[in-house]
Amino acid sequence: MAANEAYKIRNAEELIALEEKLGAHNYHPLDVVLTRGEGVWVYDTDGNRYLDCLSAYSAVNQGHAHPRIVQAMIEQAQHLPLTSRAFRNDQLPLFYEKLLDLTGYEMVLPMNTGAEAVETALKAARKWGYQVKGIPANKAEIIVAEGNFHGRTITIISFSTEDQYREDFGPFTPGFVTIPYGDADAIARAITPNTAAVFIEPIQGEAGVIVPPEGYLRRIREMCDQHHVLLIADEIQTGLGRTGKMLASEHENVRPDMVVLGKALGGGVYPVSAVVASREILGLFRPGDHGSTFGGNPIAAAVAQEALNVIVEEHLVENAAAMGQYFRDHLEEINSPHIDHIRGKGLLIGVVLKPEAGGARRFTEVLQKRGVLAKETHEHIIRFAPPLIIDQPTLDWVLPIIRDVLQMP
Ligand SMILES: *Cc1c(COP(=O)(O)O)cnc(C)c1O
Repeated sequence: MAANEAYKIRNAEELIALEEKLGAHNYHPLDVVLTRGEGVWVYDTDGNRYLDCLSAYSAVNQGHAHPRIVQAMIEQAQHLPLTSRAFRNDQLPLFYEKLLDLTGYEMVLPMNTGAEAVETALKAARKWGYQVKGIPANKAEIIVAEGNFHGRTITIISFSTEDQYREDFGPFTPGFVTIPYGDADAIARAITPNTAAVFIEPIQGEAGVIVPPEGYLRRIREMCDQHHVLLIADEIQTGLGRTGKMLASEHENVRPDMVVLGKALGGGVYPVSAVVASREILGLFRPGDHGSTFGGNPIAAAVAQEALNVIVEEHLVENAAAMGQYFRDHLEEINSPHIDHIRGKGLLIGVVLKPEAGGARRFTEVLQKRGVLAKETHEHIIRFAPPLIIDQPTLDWVLPIIRDVLQMP
């Protein structure tokens, strides 16, 4: 029996029960059991079709099962899936070349998940702090923002300000200084001679699509230059076109010293992450300093090349800007007693509900029944982040549904 036939002998209810019984409950998913995806659409085990307005937290920017990306993965899998970095492979340098060409940096360090790339950037920043800036041993400080989301490792949650992410996971990694997000003066006050880096999301995604005040990133850039501090942007969610620019930092014409990428770098089919930076920073790594068995494997490198090709050749950055504007303009027109305000850039949009709206979850559950999958974040916010290939007719289909749902009592 083929693997997917095995799934079909059980209905959605049974599959949900099985998952709840056998798996750790570290997520609270909507009760929709998906079995197929194509472009902006996903299908459940009963054959119902949904518009995906989450895109796996922006990992599926190119759309589900993009034929070119899937093909690249299949071909590479049949050819040479894995070498480890103990040997070289013929895909990795081509991936480097493409990624650097698109982002304008000088060196890459490949990983798999976002959290691993974040850890890599933090290691690189500390190394730079000691070897280049001359910070005394073990004294490096990295400035981070309240409300941040950078992943789930113990070091990363060490500087989370979300209580639940940390509860009962201590002791934590020291060396992080937290300041309020959006307040550039707070960063000025927090910088000391031991500051190696400011590590920030250009727009805070998981915090609820929080767009900082105009000029925020630019001011951080100036302060970092002034005090010989690295600016590191976590663009795992905002990068690769999501906000209507290749990197969200470009909205302020800011070039971070180091950029962390993930999610859509794998084209929605495979985990690929990377840090890009200058030679001055990533050139500090010596053989044995850091690594990953799967990081930079041939499938990852082949998939990422095609994922980047699709972003460029299908003009996804431009489409995200245009469709994002259209989506937001029409969301703004919705007359609903529940909406407090709408924010975001490109196709990263948060609809912030009033506290008395009764929480976002009840709206996302009705949206699901109407064929729209969106995820609530932080109680009162509905995030709309469809694949960047979405077109205007599809938005014209979904907008009246969103309006109806937001107008319910
Ligand atoms: C998703 C995300 C991460 C973590 O990526 P994983 O692949 O889940 O480890 C880090 N930073 C940001 C901004 C993210 O959105």
